[in-house]
Amino acid sequence: MVILVTGGAGYIGSHTCLELLRAGHQVIVVDNLCNSSREAVNRVEKLAGKSIIFYQADVTDEAALAAIFAQHTNIDGIIHFAGLKAVGESVVKPQQYYYNNIVGTLVLSKMMAQFGIKNIVFSSSATVYGENEIPFVETMSLGVPTNPYGQTKLMSEQILKDMAVAHQEWSVVLLRYFNPVGAHESGQIGEAPQGIPNNLMPFISQVAAGRLEKLNIFGNDYPTPDGTCIRDYIHVCDLAEGHVRALEKLADKSGVHVYNLGTGQGTSVMQLLTAFERVNQLHVPYTIAPRRAGDIAAFYADASKAERELGWRAVRDIEAMCRDTWRWQTMNSHGYDQ
Ligand code: NAD
Ligand code: UDP
Repeated sequence: MVILVTGGAGYIGSHTCLELLRAGHQVIVVDNLCNSSREAVNRVEKLAGKSIIFYQADVTDEAALAAIFAQHTNIDGIIHFAGLKAVGESVVKPQQYYYNNIVGTLVLSKMMAQFGIKNIVFSSSATVYGENEIPFVETMSLGVPTNPYGQTKLMSEQILKDMAVAHQEWSVVLLRYFNPVGAHESGQIGEAPQGIPNNLMPFISQVAAGRLEKLNIFGNDYPTPDGTCIRDYIHVCDLAEGHVRALEKLADKSGVHVYNLGTGQGTSVMQLLTAFERVNQLHVPYTIAPRRAGDIAAFYADASKAERELGWRAVRDIEAMCRDTWRWQTMNSHGYDQ
């Protein structure tokens, strides 16, 4: 298949492009590089031994997108990763988040209708469940996201669901990711956050590397066994494989298909920290800090639907996630900007 990947230079996008190429698909990336580097795409091409058609363009730029779709009349499907993703920043810059994430989804929907493209896979998030019973299961009623970022995921899902009603031949796949971590085992591609990381794993990794002084654990008085929050960490390569599987199984199967991509296993902040230290044989200083606003005590996926229907499940464990994160960190101490 020929797949147009928006946000393909980013963290999850780059790993997915690699999996797509390995599975024999052709890849066209559209990315404005607002949170990524062209070097990620170069490295994916080297790892796969195949080339990618790359456009530096903004998915909210309708004219630029129309020109790309007009140029490539053989596109079979879209994977839509492009979006802004920092929860805290979305509270400070709601207009930017709503505009970028919602308009991007609207422009792509328009392109699909205009150019007769029937398949789209969308990067959604467990945040759409809000505070809900655990494990989170696809059939639950969705919650109320507590920040603009989460709202953009909920709204984008709704836009695509409505588009699938109006275009009954479309296949819309909504993939709800849990907590992606890790890096490709080659150490060539990984997560390269700009500035101080917001997420736990890159923060731990930068403390271990001596770039940050210590980890702040946001709260140890939650109602969990060790008092720290529990999440469902999933290796980014498992996540990437999930996309390829979903695309191959569901292309041209009309309707809306929703899947959790998680492991189904909960790991606490303290457990992740100690696993990282043990696996990589190093010490990560930490301090207990106040709770972070908006954090939920514990959530993890019911990941059985993806296994049942797609024949996909996450196979890499917490040790692999910690080892691969650290390999990427040590080989690329400043991300792609060496
Ligand atoms: P990322 O920031 O590494 O990748 C996003 C990519 O999209 C970047 O390369 C960025 O330059 C590009 N982009 C952003 N706005 C764009 C625009 N208007 N036009 C063109 N390109 C644009 O983030 P990621 O972690 O790879 O996340 C990919 C997707 O998965 C996002 O939609 C994110 O919300 C979603 N998601 C991520 C996580 C996570 O924890 N990483 C969890 C759930 C969902
Ligand atoms: N966390 C932490 N210190 C940090 C970053 C995160 O203690 O520097 C905690 C956070 O409170 C949450 C968990 O780690 O309980 C996962 O946070 P992350 O931001 O990685 O993911 P999300 O909040 O999206 O689940």
